[in-house]
Amino acid sequence: MDRAERLPEDLDVLVIGTGAGGAPLLARLAAAGLKVAALEAGVRHPPEEIATDEVAQAGLFWMDERLSAGQDPVPFGRNNSGRGVGGSTLHYTAYTPRAQPDDLKLRTEFGVGEDWPLEFSELEPYYDELEYFLGVSGPAEYPWGPQRRRAYRHPPLPLNGAARLMQRACAEIGMRTSPAANAALSRSQEQPGYGTRHTCTNRGFCQAGCSVGAKASMDVTFLALAEAHGAQIVDGAQVTALTVQGGRMTGAEFLWNGQLHHLGARTVVLAAGAVETPRLLLLGGLANSSGQVGRNFMAHVGVQVWGQVEEDLRPYKGIPGGLISEDTHRLPGLVGGYLLQSLGVMPVTYATQYARGTLTWGPDLIEHLRGYTHVAGINVLGECLPYEHNFLELSDEPDARGLPKPRIHFSFGENEKKMTAHAEALMRDLWGRVGARDVWALPRAAHTLGTARMGHDPQTSVVDPFGRAHDLTGLWICDNSTFPSSLSVNPALTQMALSLRTADALTGDLKVRA
Ligand SMILES: Cc1cc2nc3c(=O)[nH]c(=O)nc-3n(C[C@H](O)[C@H](O)[C@H](O)COP(=O)(O)OP(=O)(O)OC[C@H]3O[C@@H](n4cnc5c(N)ncnc54)[C@H](O)[C@@H]3O)c2cc1C
Ligand code: SF4
Repeated sequence: MDRAERLPEDLDVLVIGTGAGGAPLLARLAAAGLKVAALEAGVRHPPEEIATDEVAQAGLFWMDERLSAGQDPVPFGRNNSGRGVGGSTLHYTAYTPRAQPDDLKLRTEFGVGEDWPLEFSELEPYYDELEYFLGVSGPAEYPWGPQRRRAYRHPPLPLNGAARLMQRACAEIGMRTSPAANAALSRSQEQPGYGTRHTCTNRGFCQAGCSVGAKASMDVTFLALAEAHGAQIVDGAQVTALTVQGGRMTGAEFLWNGQLHHLGARTVVLAAGAVETPRLLLLGGLANSSGQVGRNFMAHVGVQVWGQVEEDLRPYKGIPGGLISEDTHRLPGLVGGYLLQSLGVMPVTYATQYARGTLTWGPDLIEHLRGYTHVAGINVLGECLPYEHNFLELSDEPDARGLPKPRIHFSFGENEKKMTAHAEALMRDLWGRVGARDVWALPRAAHTLGTARMGHDPQTSVVDPFGRAHDLTGLWICDNSTFPSSLSVNPALTQMALSLRTADALTGDLKVRA
C-alpha cells in the first residue's frame, strides 16, 4: 500500500504477517467478500528488483536480533526466516512434499511426541488445490505416501549437478529417489491476479529470491489474488502490540512511516511466524491460560553433508530443490524419520557454512573454495520432538523499538542426536560411493516451529484445531507456531493447507455471527 494512501477502516479481519500462513488465508477471505487487510513488517520485493547477489538480497531475511540459548543454539539472522511481502516464501527453496498420514500421529505410533488434532484426509483436498494453484512441478508417479487424486500440474524440473550425483549414489545402495515436488514452474502459467509467471530459468538463486516469478512465493500467487479481490496490504508496518477490550481482540498497534498507528478489526489473525507470534502474545500476556505460549519450540534435524568430485558441477546453477528420497521415513530405533534432499548452494553461503562447520579460515579457506564449482551437498530434514526444555521467552534486552528481544532455548534430545548420526553416516557413505573427497558435515537445525500449538484441550494447547485461540475471542493464529509436532517433511505446503482450512472455518464463523 502506498504510504500516501489512507489506512483501511471497518475491517472484518486483520492479518498480521503475509508468509505461508497469512497469505492463502488473506486471499480466501477477500474472495469470500470480507473486508480484510494485512500488516507486514517487511516491504515489497518485486521480482524485477531481485538481484543475483546473495549479499544484496540479505534484506529478504528477518535480521532483528533473536537471542539463542541451550546446548544446540539456533543461529538466527540470514537464512532463518523472512521479512517482506511474502514472508519466508520469498527465500524458500520451494520443496513442497506433502506430510504423510503417519506424520500426524506420532504419539499414537510411538507413545511420545504429539498427534495432530486433525486427519490427513482433512488436509488432502487442500494439498490438491494448492499443488494446482501454485503450479507445483513434480514426477508423474511420486513413490511415497497415499495415491494422489491428480498428477502434478507440471513435469519435473531438470536436476542440477548435486541431484544427478545423489541419484547415482542412492542407486548404488538400492535407495529410491525421485524428482522432488517443487513449487517452481517447469512451464509458464497464468496466475490469477498476477499475470504470467515464467518458466524457471535454472538461475539457482532461489534462496536469494526469484527474479522471474517462477517460484511460487506468496507475493506472486496468493497475495496478488488477495489484492485483486480488494484486500489491502500495508507493508513496512511492524506490529508492536495487540489490543484487547473486554476480553476480545480489537486490533493491533504498529509502527508505520515512523509513527505509531492503530488498526481496528472484528477478528485478528496472527501469522507472524513461530518466533514473532509467541513474542507478541507474551508481550501482551495474551491467550496463555495454558502456559503453552512459547513452549515446545522445534527445529527440524537438518544435517548437511558436502563433498567435492572431479566433474565440474557448478552448484550455483539449476533449481536447488531437485531430488528427494523418503526411503528413510521410518527407521528402526528412531521416533519418526527423515528425508534426503539434494542441494544447490550459492558461493557466499557455501563459504560461510564451510568456515562455520569446519572452523577453517584464511589461506586454508581460500584453498578449499578454489574447488567450489566441484562441490555437491545432500541435506536431511528430520523429525524434532517437542520438549519442555525448548522454549521461547522474552529477554531483558530491549530491541531498537524498546521491546524485549526474544530468547530461544534449544537443545536436541536423544532422538535428534541419533537421527543426526544416522543421517550423517548414510550421506557420507553415499558421497563415498561416487568418489567424493574432502567430505564434511554441518550438523544443523532448520525451520522455526511450535510455540503456540494447536489441540483440542485448552489446558495443553493455545489454539483449537482450526487455529481459534482457546481463551481470547476474536483471535486466530495461522503460522508455523501452531504445529504440534514438526513433521518429517518441509513445512510450507502443510502451512498453506492449514491456512486455507483456517480461512474456511473463519468465514463460516463470521457468517454465523453476522
Ligand atoms: C532458507 C529457507 C529455506 C526454506 N525452504 C523451504 C522449502 O524448500 N520448503 C518448505 O516447505 N519450507 C521451506 N522453508 C520454511 C518455510 O519458508 C516456512 O515454514 C514458512 O514460510 C513459514 O510460514 P509462516 O507463515 O509461519 O512464517 P513466514 O513465512 O516467515 O511469515 C511471517 C511473516 O510475518 C511478518 N511479521 C513478523 N512479525 C511481524 C510483526 N510484528 N508485524 C508485522 N509483520 C510481522 C514477517 O515479516 C513475515 O513476512 C524454508 C525456510 C528457510 C529459512
Ligand atoms: S532456480 Fe528457478 S525458481 Fe529458483 S530463483 Fe531461479 S528461476 Fe526462480
